[in-house]
Amino acid sequence: MRRKLVVGNWKMHGSLAQNKALIASLIANLHDLKNADFAVCVPHPYLFQAQALLQGTNIAWGGQHASRFEEGAYTGSVSARMLADFGCTYAIIGHSERRVFMHETNITAASSFGAALKAGLTPIFCVGETLEERNAGLTETVVESQLIAILNTLGTQVISEAVQQRAVLAYEPVWAIGTGKTATPEQAQAVHAFIRKQIAERDAGVAARVRIIYGGSVKPSNASQLFAMPDIDGGLVGRCSLDPNDFKEICRAAC
Ligand code: PEP
Repeated sequence: MRRKLVVGNWKMHGSLAQNKALIASLIANLHDLKNADFAVCVPHPYLFQAQALLQGTNIAWGGQHASRFEEGAYTGSVSARMLADFGCTYAIIGHSERRVFMHETNITAASSFGAALKAGLTPIFCVGETLEERNAGLTETVVESQLIAILNTLGTQVISEAVQQRAVLAYEPVWAIGTGKTATPEQAQAVHAFIRKQIAERDAGVAARVRIIYGGSVKPSNASQLFAMPDIDGGLVGRCSLDPNDFKEICRAAC
């Protein structure tokens, strides 16, 4: 039985004062929820604050990206080891907003996935198709190519490392992120099952264990139905993670 995981992605939101209030509400709202795992991925400058406030609670924290480079002359970048230095459990890797706005590719995202594993983090690797790709019947082709990039870039050995570090996959249809449009539970389940099948073809044990979470306008009104699907192991939540009551309802739906 896979334990569900709900991760808030704060994106580029927050301030020291706002975060303090939000984290205090999250701790109060989630402390009695024992049957799922919870995390927030915060902007990098606030990792120190997240670590200070969340240490010892049932809410883990993480970054929203990790450089594919270990260290060096990469102005503006943050390495996976730096995230680990601040006690991060997770790093979101290959989010579609980074693919679109920061020109990340399958190959750079796969390299960041490897760098996160090497630093001892649990990468949350995002895959998903655009609306045009879905309408052209290319959802499975696109998702498969995003997954295969990991194998091609890092080799099959990475699968066992990834499993040991409980790597997470996130199916995030690009057309559902931040748009208010959610994939129906059946649409999401179909892609989650496809992802699990792709992994099962390489290693059935890994496929049975890996958590595949759904992201794309998850909200209190749809979380329960999404999380009830057999291959959906939780959610990656953007907008609603900034509202402590919405996030609480979503987390409750995972328990
Ligand atoms: C996300 O940031 O990964 C996301 C799914 O955002 P939203 O919940 O706002 O669609």
